[in-house]
Parts: sequence; C-alpha cells; structure tokens
Amino acid sequence: MLTAAHLKLAIYFGPMLLIWLGYARLRAKRQRESQAVQEAAVKAGLTEPASLHPVINPNRCIGCGSCAHACPEANVLGIIGGKAYLIDPTHCIGHSACKVACPMDAISLVFGTEKRGLDIPHISPRFETNVPGLFIAGELGGMGLIRNAIEQGRQAMENVRTLDGIGKGSQLDVVIVGAGPAGFAASLAAMQHKLRFVTVEQESLGGTVAHYPRGKLVMTAPVQLPGVGKMKFTETTKEELLGFWEAVEKRTQIKLNYHERTEEITRGDQGFVVKTNRNTYQARAVLLAIGRRGTPRKLGVPGEEQTKVVYRLIDAEQYRGRHVLVVGGGDSALEAALSIADEPGTTVTLSYRSEAFSRAKEKNRVKVQAAQKAGRIQVLMKSNVKQITADQVDMEHEGQSLSLPNDDIIVCAGGILPTPFLKKIGIEVETKYGTA
Ligand SMILES: Cc1cc2nc3c(=O)[nH]c(=O)nc-3n(C[C@H](O)[C@H](O)[C@H](O)COP(=O)(O)OP(=O)(O)OC[C@H]3O[C@@H](n4cnc5c(N)ncnc54)[C@H](O)[C@@H]3O)c2cc1C
Ligand code: SF4
Repeated sequence: MLTAAHLKLAIYFGPMLLIWLGYARLRAKRQRESQAVQEAAVKAGLTEPASLHPVINPNRCIGCGSCAHACPEANVLGIIGGKAYLIDPTHCIGHSACKVACPMDAISLVFGTEKRGLDIPHISPRFETNVPGLFIAGELGGMGLIRNAIEQGRQAMENVRTLDGIGKGSQLDVVIVGAGPAGFAASLAAMQHKLRFVTVEQESLGGTVAHYPRGKLVMTAPVQLPGVGKMKFTETTKEELLGFWEAVEKRTQIKLNYHERTEEITRGDQGFVVKTNRNTYQARAVLLAIGRRGTPRKLGVPGEEQTKVVYRLIDAEQYRGRHVLVVGGGDSALEAALSIADEPGTTVTLSYRSEAFSRAKEKNRVKVQAAQKAGRIQVLMKSNVKQITADQVDMEHEGQSLSLPNDDIIVCAGGILPTPFLKKIGIEVETKYGTA
C-alpha cells in the first residue's frame, strides 16, 4: 500500500531519478555518435593524426568527458565504454585544450604514431636550424596553431636582426618563404625593423587558414602583430580573420609576392641563394614558414600551366554554368565535386585513377553515388588526364581515349611534403613515432 512515507520518498528522489535517467540516455546517445564517427574514420583509413595530438592513458582516464568538452573541434575526441578516444584523428589540429582540461593527467601530447612517423626539424630556441642563418617558424617546426605561428614568426625575425651582416652589402637581409600566419607576422616584423626583405608565397595570404571550410569557427588567443598592435580575436571565423589580415596588408602596404614558389635554397658566399619559379634572390638569412601541407601535387600533363587549373576549391559559386573537372579520390575531391554540382548549370566530372574511393569517408562516397545516380556528377574511375587545352580536356578512361568540354579543372591530389626539401638544404630532421 502507498503510504505518506512512500510519497515523500518519491517527491524527494523522483526528480533525481529522472535527471539521472536523462543523463544516462544522453551519455548513451553521445557514445553511439562517437562510435559512428570512429567507425567512419577507420573505414576510410583516416586514422593517423597530422601533427601534435593527444594519447590517452586508459588506466588513468575516468571517462568524465572534460577533454571532449574542452576540444574546440567538434567530434575529434569522444567517450566510448567509459574511456576517452581520439575518434577522428585526422581532424585533430593539436589545440592541446584536452590536456589542460583533464583532471586525471591522463593525456600526453605527442608527434607521430607507431605506424606513421612525423619529421620534425631541429630548431634552437632562437628558431635557427643547424644551418646557421636558416630559420624556421610556425607549424613546420612542429608547433601548430595560429597564435603560436604568429608569435614564432615575430620572434624569429627578432633573432634574424641580430645576425652579422644584416643591413650591410647589396644582398637582401632575409627571404621569408610562406605567407601563412607565421610568414605574415615575420614579414610585418621585418617591415617594422626596416629589414631588406622579400616574402614569397606560392598561393595567397593566410596559408592553411585560407583552406579552412567556409564559415569555419576559428579558436585562437590574442597575440601581438608586429608594428600593428594586438590581434584580439579569441573566437572568430575564417572569413573574419582573413578579412582582418587583408585589411592589415592594405593599411601597411606590405609587399608579399603571391604565386611565387621557392624551389631551391643553396648556401652562397655570405648567406643563401633562393631560387623561385620567377626569380633568384641572394640573402643573408632565410626564414622558412611553409607549414606542413607541402606543395600541391601536380598532374604533370601538357596544358596544366593554364590559369583554369587550380589545386583547391575556394568558392563553388564561381563555377556556375561551367564545365568542371575535379581530379582526385579523397574527401577534398569528393566534397569539391559535390559542392560544385549543387550550383546551377554546372556539368561536373569526377576523375580518379583507381577503381574505388577507398580513402574517402563513407558519407562522401554515399553522397557522390547519389549525385551520380541523379545525373548531377559524372564519375570516371580508372581514368587519367592526358592533355588540357583552352576549352577541352583529353583523358584516358579504362584504356579508351575521351575528350570532354572543359572550362575549369580542380586537382585535389594531395601535397608533396617538405621533408626532402629540408634535407636537401642540410637541415637535420628527426622522425618522431609517438613521442613528445
Ligand atoms: C582544418 C584546420 C582547422 C584549423 N583550425 C585552427 C583553429 O581553429 N585555431 C588555430 O589556432 N589553428 C587551427 N589550425 C592550425 C593552423 O591553421 C596552423 O597551425 C597555422 O596555419 C600554421 O601556420 P604557418 O604559417 O606555420 O603555416 P601555414 O598556415 O600552413 O602557411 C604556410 C604557407 O607557406 C606557403 N608555402 C609552402 N611551401 C612554399 C614554397 N615552397 N614556396 C612559397 N610558399 C610556400 C603555403 O602556400 C602557405 O601559404 C587548423 C588547421 C586545419 C588544417
Ligand atoms: S578529461 Fe581525462 S579523465 Fe576525463 S575523459 Fe578525458 S582523458 Fe579521461
């Protein structure tokens, strides 16, 4: 029989039970979502983080989820079976917020994994390599993130200023390679200190930031931009941040040489000889701020030098009403083809040399299949580009020749990593297999 005591208990403990049940259901739902993300990453073979990333000690982890909550990137860390996991390793960018948030000190931050080593160049606290006069700043040195890159670019230039021979002779004081956050900050510092410098950038201002997906939330921390003042952002978007840097570029009238790629650096009499695709420079010092994405891999076919061939998608809208070929089989190729196919009047062909999109996420493969079925994308597996002309592209598809009308080509064939370039200059590089 229900007594007044039972009723009191129910009034006291009922709400607590309901809250606990709600919490348990939410936890189970989050666990299912984390498992789905992890399975998709494993299936697509996307299991190796790009750079600095967390390793979780399961014996210490109590599954509180503080790490996943603290991580600014959605769905990179998740809780499965009461323990934290790096569920989407390729999207980890080394924010390190997880380590700080963990109450059990269960997280270590490391470079590389047992399977895939990560090459880290030797750099002194002055940001100078073992080659005197050759400096490295930003993500190439192993330490990613916008704020770190800016600060390192600034500090590296403070050290370049102290070298013998700066400001003397007819050669440049420094060539800065790259105009991502590190190279941009270094260039502003060089301008502030009236150094004689040239900055060469193979693409455009912003480096990796310019490649973020549209509208991406960017988490950073306030940092001093040399000669400009404090960059106060903590939370912003890709567009706002790039807009701010472009405004700084305009206001300061700093000269940055875009579409100029450094191809070779050799030691000269009193410094370095830097050869680019456009020029040769003599300089006392060189700052490499080239990040880790490398140089886009090219097709190596006749006609590729035309401006209609690009190596990344910036804005799908610009392809409205045009015949577009996307080359590649990874997520960036599939996502580029899908977003262009969404624009009115486009004819999109996706070409890949293998017989399956084995390195792309399942959700992208499914979307491409659906778009192919709906006639929005033509997919040519086992195909290769042979020649590009002004209004056509000649291809080989399953052994047959094929010509397509063409206005634009987007090549998403990955990048050539910078390690051989560094070794050729004589910079010592250590391969890390999951160590700090
Ligand atoms: C998807 C994604 C999201 C991210 N989100 C954040 C975030 O929210 N907050 C954060 O702090 N960090 C974030 N990061 C990390 C951050 O973008 C990088 O750590 C930072 O851009 C590194 O700056 P950098 O100047 O060292 O290199 P990069 O930004 O990579 O710039 C290097 C530049 O060098 C140029 N270059 C390379 N080789 C040559 C050559 N041979 N000749 C001429 N130019 C050359 C490249 O074209 C490029 O412009 C993110 C990274 C990714 C991939
Ligand atoms: S914050 Fe630490 S203890 Fe909590 S889930 Fe993450 S790794 Fe485990």
